[in-house]
Amino acid sequence: MSVDLHVHTTESDGTWTPQELVHQAVKRGIRTIAITDHDTTSGIRSAQTSAPEGLEVIPGIEINAAAPDGADVHIVGLWIDPENPALQERLGLLREARIVRTEKILTELRALGIAITLDDVLKYAREDVISRSHIASVLLEEGVVSSKAEAFERLIGEGCPAYVPRFKVEPAEAVALIFKAGGVPVLAHPGLLANLDVLPILVEAGLVGLEVIHPSHDAAQTEFYMELARRCNLLPSGGSDCHGPGGKDQVFLGSYTIPEEWVLQLAARR
Ligand code: AMP
Ligand code: MN
Ligand code: MN
Ligand code: MN
Repeated sequence: MSVDLHVHTTESDGTWTPQELVHQAVKRGIRTIAITDHDTTSGIRSAQTSAPEGLEVIPGIEINAAAPDGADVHIVGLWIDPENPALQERLGLLREARIVRTEKILTELRALGIAITLDDVLKYAREDVISRSHIASVLLEEGVVSSKAEAFERLIGEGCPAYVPRFKVEPAEAVALIFKAGGVPVLAHPGLLANLDVLPILVEAGLVGLEVIHPSHDAAQTEFYMELARRCNLLPSGGSDCHGPGGKDQVFLGSYTIPEEWVLQLAARR
């Protein structure tokens, strides 16, 4: 029986609904799962209510922050209180900023002769967490590209003509928000960072955990981050970062799990 502390649902950019995700988790032998959608907590309740006995659903979040050099730094919060007003207010602003950014991307696409509307994109975004993944889905549907990956390579990925950066919070603020909501902050997938310059800032802010297990980490990286966690007094964490079928990755749900003992250590820091 295993544990996965990083997954997404249709409430952000995943393709499984919270109910489907819970069903898939059980099917794959998972006993504890944290729902960590980007900038929203709206999938937590339905995951919890549809979870059968024997599956624990931890309320979580993934907040995308920006390092001083502009790099994307993702902070996972575990055991956050979804009702926390400070957290909800900030998340609301982040989601509004996503809409403004989407409109800017659509303007850039129009300049390239590609006319898609905000309504088209909203059809794919079930909730108000609009991401480039949803824009890519429309581009695919309209036949502008032949795969979502192509949309990122040619049009909306970093460095492409219709790329617009997303508004992000500061790393220390993301950690503070998670604390305010009673959660445990964990640095997500450090292997995807260009460098570890942000780590001292996060540790200073009170970071508790470091994702050691993640599909983007090879065996050597897993070992390296395990050792780094030990040296920095951080607790190991991890998961599949599953986005469901049809996303940017394979479905790794059930293949990237962590020992039960790690959850107990993390839970003790609530
Ligand atoms: P955003 O949060 O709007 O910046 O969009 C990022 C999301 O786009 C990621 O979480 C993925 O779901 C998706 N994504 C990023 N790169 C790719 C890619 N190459 N192919 C398909 N989806 C991608
Ligand atoms: Mn995502
Ligand atoms: Mn992430
Ligand atoms: Mn994620």
